[in-house]
Amino acid sequence: MREASCPQCRGAARLVSNPYYGAGLAVHRDLLVCLECGYSGFSENDHDPDATPASAPESAFRRLLRRLRGD
Ligand SMILES: [Zn+2]
Repeated sequence: MREASCPQCRGAARLVSNPYYGAGLAVHRDLLVCLECGYSGFSENDHDPDATPASAPESAFRRLLRRLRGD
């Protein structure tokens, strides 16, 4: 498991593979999940709203992130 620093709090964050990457809509290979503040987002191009798939399955995505954070 790779690690990165959180863009929000600079705490330890995990980089996890995006299960949707390559599925057609997902353009980000990795997801960043902060273990400190709970921030979650894409590890790259997070600043570019145009890169976010508009029709991604949001609820499934949020469920995944909750599971990764251990909520
Ligand atoms: Zn954080």
